[in-house]
Amino acid sequence: MREEHTEIARSIQSIVGPDHVTEDPPLTIGGLSPKLLARPASAEEVAACLKVCSQLDAAVIPAGRMSWLECGNPLKRADVVLSLDRMCRVIDYSPADLTATVEAGLPLNDFNEVTMKERQWLPLDPPGFKSASLGAIAACNSSGALRLGFGTPRDYVIGLKLAHIDGTESKSGGRVVKNVAGYDLNKLYVGSYGTLAVITELTFKLRPLAERSSTLMITSRYRGPLFLLARKVLASELQPASVVLTRRLSPALATEWPDDALLMRFIDSEAAVEHQLKWVRESADESYKTTHLTETEADAVWSKVADFDQHAIRVRFSVPLSAVPGEFEKAFLAHLECVACADIGAGIIRVAFDADELHVVAQIKKLRANAAAAGGTLVIEKAPAEVRLEAEVWGDVGSTAPLMRSLKEKFDPQSLLSPGKFVAGI
Ligand SMILES: Cc1cc2nc3c(=O)[nH]c(=O)nc-3n(C[C@H](O)[C@H](O)[C@H](O)COP(=O)(O)OP(=O)(O)OC[C@H]3O[C@@H](n4cnc5c(N)ncnc54)[C@H](O)[C@@H]3O)c2cc1C
Repeated sequence: MREEHTEIARSIQSIVGPDHVTEDPPLTIGGLSPKLLARPASAEEVAACLKVCSQLDAAVIPAGRMSWLECGNPLKRADVVLSLDRMCRVIDYSPADLTATVEAGLPLNDFNEVTMKERQWLPLDPPGFKSASLGAIAACNSSGALRLGFGTPRDYVIGLKLAHIDGTESKSGGRVVKNVAGYDLNKLYVGSYGTLAVITELTFKLRPLAERSSTLMITSRYRGPLFLLARKVLASELQPASVVLTRRLSPALATEWPDDALLMRFIDSEAAVEHQLKWVRESADESYKTTHLTETEADAVWSKVADFDQHAIRVRFSVPLSAVPGEFEKAFLAHLECVACADIGAGIIRVAFDADELHVVAQIKKLRANAAAAGGTLVIEKAPAEVRLEAEVWGDVGSTAPLMRSLKEKFDPQSLLSPGKFVAGI
């Protein structure tokens, strides 16, 4: 094994240069210790590294900034981590077309700093978004509280460049917005957690930056009225960017952040935002307290919504909109100390809690059964590897599992790309 290890290290060093290869890096993923961390500088180098791994039967973990490598089911093997953090160029930006092509290691924040100079942006705020690479955000189709108003990465990726395990490269989609004929393979790669190919470049369509963004924090004596008000807003002609009920999130804010708070964000023209704020204020009678957050407060609040990571376990429910209040209450009753965020307009509830090791798998299975009874699903976003293995991150996906397996076999016949990570352990 040591000899093979040395051969892989030598071959990969000859591709990316010795300065960009770390042997025995201080890195464990679900208890596995990859022998090599390689940091290629181009799509061609990524493809060449993959070819070496395929020839030497080494399992490869694609990576960006390596902040969320513990996602998905525990890996079956991990020999080489291929981090694209040196690949951070904006390759092409065409403000007139609202499109841009970038290398996959570019962090979302750095990209938005460039596009905001042209008053454009990529409106995504997934967990960890301040440092996350665009390749990883697309690979995990990660979204946050902006999803209600702006959608998910799948809505913005119009083209991809990919490196495959046999060392070949391919492209899907293109650099213009209307270019899809036949199957839209972007949709397949986005959300495949790096188990089918490594994303080396992405082309995004962008949105114009709105004139104004305003956030209201609304509180009430009980949670029920908060859900009622949210439902009223969602049924109206208003177009909020986010409607989130938070439980026990508490960043340091000038304004008080009580146990339960309803956050509403409007991102639009001055006049449209003003009209919507007025509508909400007039609809919230004296039993509600409505606070218009300052820009700094709003930033702190939305950052906290994106990153509430202080607990050992975090699960994400996706349920029909009508089931959100009920499932929120059930999760809360099961874990009184939980921290939770319900994206009421998208039907997504994130719940974080600490659980004792003996019972946590049973607890997650019970929450998943509740979600299924309400017509929804539960995904484990964070948990120790043994819990993710036993409770299965995505649960039983039923009849789609054979289809997913046959796709994986076509794209990665030796099962070397993040083996075991995705749905049904593929
Ligand atoms: C603390 C924390 C918690 C998070 N929690 C969640 C969450 O609960 N739900 C959620 O959806 N997202 C979550 N994310 C993920 C986040 O939104 C982004 O997907 C993430 O920040 C990835 O950034 P990264 O560059 O560090 O990715 P990495 O940690 O490097 O990679 C994350 C995943 O993407 C794959 N990947 C990375 N780059 C590529 C590529 N170029 N091609 C193919 N595959 C690739 C990796 O194999 C890995 O599976 C979390 C991030 C952080 C930091």
